Amino acid sequence: MEQKRTLHDAWDREHLWHPYTSTIDPLPTYKVASASGAEITLADGAKLIDGMSSWWCACHGYNHPRLNAAAERQLHAMSHVMFGGLTHDPAIELGKLLLEMAPPSMHNIFYADSGSVAVEVAMKMAVQAAISRSGDHRRTNFVTIRSGYHGDTWNAMSVCDPVTGMHSAFGSALPIRYFVPQPRSRFGAEWDPADIEPLRDVLDKHADEIAALILEPIVQGAGGMWFYHPEYLRQAAALCRERGIYVIFDEIATGFWRTGRCFAWEHAGVEPDIMCVGKGLTGGYMTLSAVLTTRDVADTISRGEAGVLMHGPTFMANPLACAVAAESLRIMREQDMASLVGAMEAQMRRELAPAADMPGVSDVRVLGSIGVVETCHPVDVGAFQRLCVEHGVWIRPFGRNVYIMPPYVTTPQQISQLCSTLLKLVAATAKP
Ligand code: PMP
Repeated sequence: MEQKRTLHDAWDREHLWHPYTSTIDPLPTYKVASASGAEITLADGAKLIDGMSSWWCACHGYNHPRLNAAAERQLHAMSHVMFGGLTHDPAIELGKLLLEMAPPSMHNIFYADSGSVAVEVAMKMAVQAAISRSGDHRRTNFVTIRSGYHGDTWNAMSVCDPVTGMHSAFGSALPIRYFVPQPRSRFGAEWDPADIEPLRDVLDKHADEIAALILEPIVQGAGGMWFYHPEYLRQAAALCRERGIYVIFDEIATGFWRTGRCFAWEHAGVEPDIMCVGKGLTGGYMTLSAVLTTRDVADTISRGEAGVLMHGPTFMANPLACAVAAESLRIMREQDMASLVGAMEAQMRRELAPAADMPGVSDVRVLGSIGVVETCHPVDVGAFQRLCVEHGVWIRPFGRNVYIMPPYVTTPQQISQLCSTLLKLVAATAKP
């Protein structure tokens, strides 16, 4: 049974790269036959309750009838046409829906292929706009906070945390950015004014080299699942604006109600100049991202040397992806998402709380539909996942974080099973 489950499909193991695992000694992979609602069915018939939303993206769960129907309708019209010189209703409808949900100052939308590419585009926007606005070609660098994660492409990597991210593997090949410490004031706790000082120092010394501050608002995801105080965003944005530095919010993980608000900027009431969305945009059906910006940034770029934003991917605004994304946003618009995610938050807060007293656990935190149990030592991912699969849940820890962010269709009973299994397995495996 176990042999069949820990699939080790010989061909897969030999030829297919899976993310962040060795080709010599890969972590186990489990073959999936299908997925529906909040459940993943493995090839051997075992059913797992999904605690991951497939890395934040399957927000309405799997095999959703309305998303399926939207994809099928669009498939019969056209799955793709180029966006240079052509346009289509799926792109227009999605754009209108996005602007309804986005910060009010957002005006122009650039559709891109993935989260990482959205970050590349956002950084290019900031540099083009900063040079165009100031006429100063030195304004090309970025400042960010430690423990961030922004994706795996070159510039996105350069603003990921330099220690837990990928800097050591790429060394001097990566552009050098300005890093300031992660804000330590917790979300929901008291604000420590000292948190903002390192950013003020860097900006005082290097403002004329910096195009933008980039960060994940409120929740730092893959860099450590940390939830920080909204006051940081308010003060950081004010410092940037006094110095003509743009603010980029990477809402790729936090977007679409994950933190209990439609987007995380709402916790602080601070609008960015440029904002990236992705992941949950298509309800997890396919890859698509978008970069939103103000009319001022867009027009400043257009008045610059190049006269255009220098990016234009082949699959820009892919109609199939846009049609599914528009339907996903309609589903959200028709629901009381604040209450739905609020109920998930209350339940996870209650049911994960006992972990705080376990030996081997250093912290427990919940925000929106994200629940995190931080352990004192790194978790053995392969061993932990094997236990999860044996217990009928799908949870993939990283580092010292065992976390869940279930699809919004997960029932209270399924959430209870995720929480109780997580507690049981952490209690059994975490070392003090
Ligand atoms: N930014 C953030 C905040 C992310 O969490 C991720 C993905 N984990 C990305 C960017 C990159 O997105 P993608 O994997 O779609 O390139």
